[in-house]
Amino acid sequence: MIIVLSQSIHPEEKQGVITFLEGKGYKIREIVGEAETVLGAVGLIGMDAREVEVLPGVERVIPISKPYKLASRELKKEDTVISLGPVRIGGRRVAVAAGPCAVESRDQMMRIAETVRASGAVMLRGGAFKPRTSPYDFQGLGEEGLQYLREAGDAVGLPVVSEVVATETVEMAAGYVHVFQIGARNMQNFELLKKVGAAGLPVILKRGMAAKIEEWLMAAEYLLAHGTEDVILCERGIRTFETYTRNTLDLSAIPVIKKLSHLPVIVDPSHATGIREKVPPMALAGIAAGADGLIVEVHTDPEHALSDGPQSLYPEQFEKLMRDLEALSPVIGKEIEHLPEKHPLWAVDKAFTGGKTVVAFQGEPGAYSEEALERYFFHIDHDIFPCGSFEEVFRAVLDGKARYGILPIENSLTGSIHENYDLLLRYPDIKIVGEKTLRIVHNLIGKKGTKIEKLKRVFSHPQGLAQCAAFLDKYPGLERVPFYDTAGSVAHVAAENREDWAAIAGEKAAAVYGMAVLKEGLETNPNNYTRFFICSRLEEPTPEEINKVSFVFSAVDKPGALFHCLSELVNRDLNMKKLESRPIHGRPWQYMFYIDLDITGKVDRFTQAAEKLKEGVEDFRILGWYRQGGV
Ligand code: PEP
Ligand code: MN
Repeated sequence: MIIVLSQSIHPEEKQGVITFLEGKGYKIREIVGEAETVLGAVGLIGMDAREVEVLPGVERVIPISKPYKLASRELKKEDTVISLGPVRIGGRRVAVAAGPCAVESRDQMMRIAETVRASGAVMLRGGAFKPRTSPYDFQGLGEEGLQYLREAGDAVGLPVVSEVVATETVEMAAGYVHVFQIGARNMQNFELLKKVGAAGLPVILKRGMAAKIEEWLMAAEYLLAHGTEDVILCERGIRTFETYTRNTLDLSAIPVIKKLSHLPVIVDPSHATGIREKVPPMALAGIAAGADGLIVEVHTDPEHALSDGPQSLYPEQFEKLMRDLEALSPVIGKEIEHLPEKHPLWAVDKAFTGGKTVVAFQGEPGAYSEEALERYFFHIDHDIFPCGSFEEVFRAVLDGKARYGILPIENSLTGSIHENYDLLLRYPDIKIVGEKTLRIVHNLIGKKGTKIEKLKRVFSHPQGLAQCAAFLDKYPGLERVPFYDTAGSVAHVAAENREDWAAIAGEKAAAVYGMAVLKEGLETNPNNYTRFFICSRLEEPTPEEINKVSFVFSAVDKPGALFHCLSELVNRDLNMKKLESRPIHGRPWQYMFYIDLDITGKVDRFTQAAEKLKEGVEDFRILGWYRQGGV
């Protein structure tokens, strides 16, 4: 059952409830959600809910209708996000584990670890105990294999996952792996599930090849009931009458699981298809279907692999898959999980060791800028600093009230946000240190239960209203009311408590103001992205960590001046990503030129070009070096 605690409950009262239930033989798990704190109580005996309801500090008691309790979405509404050191699995991220089917040698593991890490995997896989169909096939290197796996993982900074097949080896394996894997053949080996669950480590639980979704969730329940809180479900294909592929990947299981359970779910396209060339399309399909990640077999020499060679990707194929995933993820509102070393802020702020970092943004809480902020800074324990204007963001960073600021710089439909370009010029001490692209999804937000047909007024920023024109045109009687801010318009509708008003904003705003999303995705053009700059007064990143530069200059007023400047870039094979001109304030009809340049592997060439440019222009300034972000 779920015990919803009152918001004002005292710690002693909470302890009282826990002690009471534990005394009755219940296992208790506390779940702190955005809206409420609940206790999940699971036990063998039934109990009259009223006995608990009368306890001080208890608001209400809800029975869990499903046979799986700890795994159920009824118990925990928010997605579970599992942390493996710096790597997170679940929520809005796409995490990819990769490596060979089996650990074959130390050398093989070292090579493959480097390869998959360089392409963007965040976990290294490798089987040391192989449950093979034939007793004459390679059975795995056992503990020696786990040693190689761990050594390779440590060498490149990747957490490692490996399968256990017997209760007797669980303890030993726990000394090597960061994540256990329970294979398809052992999904209902309940003694193994109990033992692995009790080890307390995260577990990837493969779906049995003939397991129904409910049986799979019951297997997860075994793990959760015996100790671990971190179960990652893995769809790896089920047996059907089809024999063309090794198994049939049941992609519909992903949205089903997402509804039934809070646990992250990943896809194994390798065992699902058994055919190398079918792996990338099914991997992409899995992510498009809502999976939180993948586990993929990759081998540097699949022709000579000791197991599952035909389904193992070549490193180049894996690299391409990772690039495709990088492009796909923002389309569905997610992003690829990277190891933090690749995270630009680590490059900038080497001294960072923890503690709260303050980040300023323009807008009300729940604004799109805040959404971009949360996604960029999710690795860092941070506080937000909402500002009334873009200039206030610059001032907050300059005055040291915020360590970073995040500013929209360009929208893919409406173009540049010129004010921020001008402010970058006006505040030369503030540099661009990072970039983040966010897909903008507009939602109709109102009081829960509001009927769209009954609405009389809709509030939003003029751009929000304009970008949803096709939807709004369907409701001619609905008055469009321009508002200073998208999230602010939600706050306004919430404060006025009107059932005939609504606002257009991001989904975060609905959560912040306790409102409901009445309709998702109102934007006429779904290719709606906003690019944000992350700014700081801190030192610039080192050349190895950057691949993009933004700079500004004013060309002298003579024929071919701009051409001359650009030729310095062309001659060095430097790819311009953006060129924009802005009027120079106080000098009518004279312009500054802004350039974003791709300098991947060409930092030295740009440094030379910059020297040349400085000679031929009136003003030259680097706005920031950074790592290109997404899309
Ligand atoms: C594996 O991951 O190597 C494996 C044996 O997978 P499954 O249990 O899904 O067959
Ligand atoms: Mn395999």
